[in-house]
Amino acid sequence: MRTDTPQPVRLADYRPFPFAIETTRLVFDLHPTATKVTAELAIRRVGDATEPLVLDGERLKLLSIAIDGQALGANQFVVDAEHLTIAEVPDRFVLTTEVEIDPSSNKALTGLYMSGGRFCTQCEAEGFRTITYFPDRPDVLSRYTVRIEADRKFPHLLSNGNPGAFGQVGETRHFLEWTDPFPKPCYLFALVAGDLDVLADKFITMSGREVALRILVDPGQASRAAYALDSLKRAMKWDEDTFGREYDLDLFAIVAVRDFNFGAMENKGLNIFNSALLLADPETATDLDYERIEAVVAHEYFHNWTGNRITCRDWFQLCLKEGFTVFRDQSFSADQRGAAVQRIKDVRALRARQFAEDAGPLAHPVRPSSYLKIDNFYTATIYEKGAEIIRMLKTILGDAAFRKGSDLYFDRHDGQATTVEAFIACFAEASGRDLTAFFDWYEQAGTPSVTIDTDYDAAAKALTLTLTQSTAPTPGQPNKKPLPIPVAIGLLSAEGEVLRDTEIVLLDQARQTVRWEGVTSAPVLSALRGFSAPVNLTTDARASDRYVLFAADPDLFNRWEAGQTLARDLILARAAGTPDEVGEERYADALGRALVDDAAEPAFKALLLALPSEPDLALMSDPADPAALHEARDTLRTRIAVHLGDLLRRLHGEMQSEGEFSASAEAAGRRALRNACIEILAADPRDDNLMRIVGHFEASRNMTDMIGALYPLVSIGGVAREKALANFHFAWRAEPLVLDKWFAVQGRDPNEDALERVIALTSYPDFEPTNPNRLRALVATFANFNPARFHDPSGAGYRFLADQILAVDAFNPTTAARLVDPLGGWRRYKPELGQQMREQLERIKAHPGLSRNVLELVAKALD
Ligand code: ZN
Repeated sequence: MRTDTPQPVRLADYRPFPFAIETTRLVFDLHPTATKVTAELAIRRVGDATEPLVLDGERLKLLSIAIDGQALGANQFVVDAEHLTIAEVPDRFVLTTEVEIDPSSNKALTGLYMSGGRFCTQCEAEGFRTITYFPDRPDVLSRYTVRIEADRKFPHLLSNGNPGAFGQVGETRHFLEWTDPFPKPCYLFALVAGDLDVLADKFITMSGREVALRILVDPGQASRAAYALDSLKRAMKWDEDTFGREYDLDLFAIVAVRDFNFGAMENKGLNIFNSALLLADPETATDLDYERIEAVVAHEYFHNWTGNRITCRDWFQLCLKEGFTVFRDQSFSADQRGAAVQRIKDVRALRARQFAEDAGPLAHPVRPSSYLKIDNFYTATIYEKGAEIIRMLKTILGDAAFRKGSDLYFDRHDGQATTVEAFIACFAEASGRDLTAFFDWYEQAGTPSVTIDTDYDAAAKALTLTLTQSTAPTPGQPNKKPLPIPVAIGLLSAEGEVLRDTEIVLLDQARQTVRWEGVTSAPVLSALRGFSAPVNLTTDARASDRYVLFAADPDLFNRWEAGQTLARDLILARAAGTPDEVGEERYADALGRALVDDAAEPAFKALLLALPSEPDLALMSDPADPAALHEARDTLRTRIAVHLGDLLRRLHGEMQSEGEFSASAEAAGRRALRNACIEILAADPRDDNLMRIVGHFEASRNMTDMIGALYPLVSIGGVAREKALANFHFAWRAEPLVLDKWFAVQGRDPNEDALERVIALTSYPDFEPTNPNRLRALVATFANFNPARFHDPSGAGYRFLADQILAVDAFNPTTAARLVDPLGGWRRYKPELGQQMREQLERIKAHPGLSRNVLELVAKALD
C-alpha cells in the first residue's frame, strides 16, 4: 500500500511563473538508449527577487549544469525526483543543462520514445519534463531553436518551425537545425527522427503565401496518406473562409506513428498522429476511418489558432482549446458531409461518452477546479461538452455576433496563454450581451434535465408550454443553479404538416411558461431540434406524437430521435418483462415506411436502422441489467429482421455499387445502409440471409463492406464465425491497422463464449499490450461495447479488465487509466454485479506501486 497521499493541483492556487524564458536552444544528440539533451535557456526574472528558480524534470540524468557558462557547485542547486531548484539566480542569465535519457526503454509513450524504430515525442500535457529541465506549464512561452544530431540511419530529422542549417558529423552521423519563430509552451514541442516516406504538396493561403505540406509515414505507405492530405487542404481553406484564420509557417508537416496514447497531437508545424487516424485506402480502411481521419486532421490543424497561437494559461483551461477546436472540427465535418447526419453522429457520441461520465462518479465541470493527474482530464466532458457550450453560444448570439466575438478573441489574445473568462468576455463585448449566467455552463457539472408540458386551448387557438429544468447533484456539487438553455421548438399538425417553424426559447429559470397564439390545430411538439442543448428532455408526448415526428419532422435530428425513443421504450419495456408486441409491430411498420422514403439519404436511413446501443440503454435503466437489455434488444432486432426481411434484402441489393470506390459521403452512405441491412438480417439467420451475408463478405472489395459482414458473421457464431475470422486473419496478418479490427470485432462478439475467447486472444502472438491501439481494440472494445459479456454474472469479465489495467499500469499509466471507466459506473448496475465491480476497483486501489493516474480514477469511482 502506498503511504503518501498525492496532493491535488488547484485552480485557485494559480500563480504566474516568476521568470520568462526568452529563448530556448535545444541540442539533441540522439541515441536509442542514451540520448543527450543540452538546453540553453535565456532567462529573465519577472517576479519577486527572492523567488528561487524551480524547473520541472523527471527521470533525467543530470550530466552538467551552468549559469552564464560557469558550472554550478553541488551546493548551489538541488535535484529531487520531480524538480531542479536553484535558490539564487541573477535577474538575467543563461542556464545550460545537459541531461541523458533512454528513449528505448520508454513504454509510457510520453516524452521522447521510440516507435517502429524511429524517435518521436509526445509532450502534452507534461511530457517535456522527461526530456529536459524546464518550467513545464502552458503559460511559459519561449522561442525555440533546435539542433538534432543522429546516425544517418535516421534520415529525416524534424522539429517545429522552419528548417535551417544541416550537415554531416563524422562518418556516420548528420544534423539539422530548426527555428520556430512563434513563441510556444513546451507542450507543443516535437521531434521526430527516422526513415520515412513523404507525401508532399503545397497550399496557397488567402494572402498568397505558399506553404509546403508534408505527410511522413512508414516507408511504402505514402499513398495511404492521400486522403489525409486532401482533408488537410480542405481544412486549411475552410478555416480561412469560416473563421478568417490563415496558416503562419512555411511548412506544415504531419508524421504518423504506430505507438501513440491518444489520437493525434497539434505540435506547432509538426503534428504527430496515431497512424490509425492518418493512413487509409479503400482496401484497409473503413468509411468510419475516412470520416475520423478527415475530422482529426482538421482538428489538429485548427489547433494552430485555437491552442497554439492562443494557448491555455493553465490546464484547468483545457476546454479553451479543446472544446472550441472540437466545435470547429464538427462544423467542418457538417459542411463537408451534411449537417443532419453529422449532428446525429455527434450527439450519439456525446450521449454515449459524456452523458455517461456526467451521470457517474467521474462527473466534473467543463472547467474543473482540481486534479491529481492532468492526463485524466482529456475527457468527453472537456472535449464534447466543451464543444456543445460553444455551439449553444453561437445559437444564442447568432452567426454574425458569434463571428465578431471569435474575431475579437483571435485579435486580442494572439500570442497569449489565456483563460475561458477572457474568451467569453470577447463574445460578451462583441455582442453587447451579459454572459455571466452562461459562464455557469463551464463550472457546473451534470446533465440538466428539462421537461416540457403542453396545454392546448382549442377555442383560443393558443398553446401554453411549461418548461422546467433541474440538475442532479454531482460529486462535490450538491446544489445546482438553473442554466441558460436554448431550446429549439417547432410544431407539427397531427397530419405531419408544419404548424409553426423553429423558434429558440431561452430557458434560464427553474420554471418558465411560454404562450403561443395562432396555433390552428392540436399540435405535435418538436422540441430540442438539432439537439440545441446538451440536456435530457422529457415531454408529455404520446407514442402517437412520436410516430408523427418519426414520419414527418422536417428537423431530421428530431425525426431520428423520435425513432430512437420509440425503439428505446420498446426495448426497456421488454427488458422489464412487460413487452409491447403490438407496439413492436407498429414500430417495424413505421421503420419500413421511413426506409422507402425517396427523399431521405441512405446515410440517414442507415442511422434510422441502428437500434439504441446496449451501453446507451444501460444508462437509461435503473438499475441496469445488461443481460436482459441484450436479450430485449436482440428480440426487437429479430422482429424487424423478420417483419421487414423482404425490404431489407431488396435495399441491400439496391445499395450495391459496381463502379470504382469513392470515399464521398454519398457513396459511404450507401455502404452504411447496405451494412445496416445485413446487421439486422443477421438476427434472422435463415439460409438465404446467411448466404447473403457470406456472399457480401466474400465479394467485398473494400474494408467497409468486409467489416460490415464480418461482425454479423461473428455474431451468428459457429462455422460462420470461425471461417470468417480465419480468412480475415490470413488475408491481413501483415497489416497492423487491419489486425486491430480483427481484434476489435472479437471484442464485440456477443456469443456466450466471448469472454473465454477474449482472454485467450491476449496470449496470441499478435496481441501487443505495449501498443495502445492493439490493447484498446481488444480490451477496451470488450469492456465498453460488449456489456452482455463483460458483465458476466461470475465477475470474470471484471477480473479480466482489472488484470489488464494492472499489467498496463506498470509501463503506461496514461493508457491504463483510460481502461478504468467501464468499472466506474458500478452503482448503476444491479447489486449482484455492482458489488463485484466494486471489489475489482478495491483490488486495483490496493495494488502496490499503482500510478497516480489510475489511483485518481479508482479512488473517485469508490468515493
Ligand atoms: Zn484537440
